[in-house]
Amino acid sequence: MNEPKSPSDIAREALRRLAASHLPPTPANYQACYNEIAGIPTIPPFPEVPLRNLCALLRGADQDREKQLDRLSAAIGQRSWQGVTEALLSLVHDRPAGSSGTAQVASIDALPGELAGKLARLLECMLPALGDDNHHVLSQASGVIGLLRQPVVELSTVQAGLGDLTRQVIYAAEEQVEIKGSLLKLLHLVIENISELSIDDSWLKGQLEGVLASVAPPLTLRHLDEMERRLRDVIEKQGRAKGHSARAQAEMRHMLAEFVERLATMNQSSSEFEGQILESAHLIEQVESIDELKPLLAGVLEATHQMAEETAKSREQLKGLQEKVATTEMELVQLHHELDSASALARHDPLTDALNRKGLEEALVREISSMRRKESDLSISLLDIDNFKKLNDNLGHDVGDGALVHLAEVTRAHLRPSDTLARYGGEEFVVLMPDTRLAQGVEVMIRLQRELTRSLFMAGNEKILITFSAGVAQLAPDETGTEAIRRADQAMYLAKRAGKNRVMGA
Ligand code: GH3
Ligand code: MG
Ligand code: MG
Repeated sequence: MNEPKSPSDIAREALRRLAASHLPPTPANYQACYNEIAGIPTIPPFPEVPLRNLCALLRGADQDREKQLDRLSAAIGQRSWQGVTEALLSLVHDRPAGSSGTAQVASIDALPGELAGKLARLLECMLPALGDDNHHVLSQASGVIGLLRQPVVELSTVQAGLGDLTRQVIYAAEEQVEIKGSLLKLLHLVIENISELSIDDSWLKGQLEGVLASVAPPLTLRHLDEMERRLRDVIEKQGRAKGHSARAQAEMRHMLAEFVERLATMNQSSSEFEGQILESAHLIEQVESIDELKPLLAGVLEATHQMAEETAKSREQLKGLQEKVATTEMELVQLHHELDSASALARHDPLTDALNRKGLEEALVREISSMRRKESDLSISLLDIDNFKKLNDNLGHDVGDGALVHLAEVTRAHLRPSDTLARYGGEEFVVLMPDTRLAQGVEVMIRLQRELTRSLFMAGNEKILITFSAGVAQLAPDETGTEAIRRADQAMYLAKRAGKNRVMGA
């Protein structure tokens, strides 16, 4: 048995061994050599400080992780390696879904559950835009959506699926663009064809020109909406015109039949009269005494009288019929006028070609539902021309009409294509401004006032300055279009009260 070494011998020996083994002379290496020589087992110290630093670095992500880090911190506090190991393992493996079965998949290979859900939703929303007749895209997309909806979404599988789907989607989208283009061409053809058929109706031609203009690309929903409104006007007008001509034809047929009948009775009574007179003439030739002549003359007189009565009756009936024809003709002319104005007033104001009240109602429904769907804004302005009565009184109604047309033209030229102009009443117009907040809406109307002072209206050689007062209201979340117009109207009234030629926000 060796003598136990003194601590100073051990220290010296440890220094020698450290130098011989070329180990760096750190306290930890010196301690290890010392322990080995002294026969003391080496227990590495618990690395509390580095572990606490690591724990601090990992904090601040999400709630689940915070709980796991609390467990890690407690294990560090208890200096328990097993506790630290378990806490670190759960940090590495536990997924947000919390399923213990999923702990086998390393997080780098799997898509986070929330992102996968969002991707699946995006694909679902995108599919209808690609049309429902491309089964290949549909089945490929539902395959990828299925993968994304799995509890564990493996990145590599999804990546491959998404790659294939992207190629298919590109083809499908190109196809949709082509379909849209072809549909537009077809629509052009149909409309041109209608205008060829109705070549004699100038109103219809004008309307169809409007429809054709609104079919020009870019094809937006607003364009299509405007086109639909105009086409519906055309269809209504054609329907009425058809009914109108069918009625007129029936009337004429009826009157023709009456004429023929009347002519036939006239003919019949005159041939009966002829027969009677011929017979009387024959009898008169054979008369021998004046007494025999008397009854014969009475017969002739009677027949002549009857004939005269019959003729008078026929004349009267024919006169009645003539009057009836004239009345029907007048009624038809009247009907035609009414028809013209009724059709022209269908959705567009014939003077200014702005929408009329009916057109405005439809446009409002559309803009409000689009606003709610897109969670955007809609501002509505009501404008009223200043001192319009004076303009009419001084320069005449026709000049007044011209001023209305001028205002509508300047407005249309300076508003955005998405804005809508409607004639609300005599010299009052409504402007719908989608995606516009109140302050911007007021700015738009002030800009329009400036444009109107720049482009003066000419009545003959006279330059006329048209001004207007306007109120603007931004549609509140639960407000109806009518309510917002009423608020804009009140603001417009305040603008008039404040001296006219100004814009007020409601
Ligand atoms: P204010 O500045 O307060 O609005 O006064 P105003 O004269 O513009 O308003 P008022 O309501 O007194 O008169 C409106 C005039 O608009 C009366 C009417 O004859 C005229 N008017 C309405 N519709 C038409 C139209 O289609 N053509 C023409 N030429 N005039 C119209
Ligand atoms: Mg007015
Ligand atoms: Mg006015």
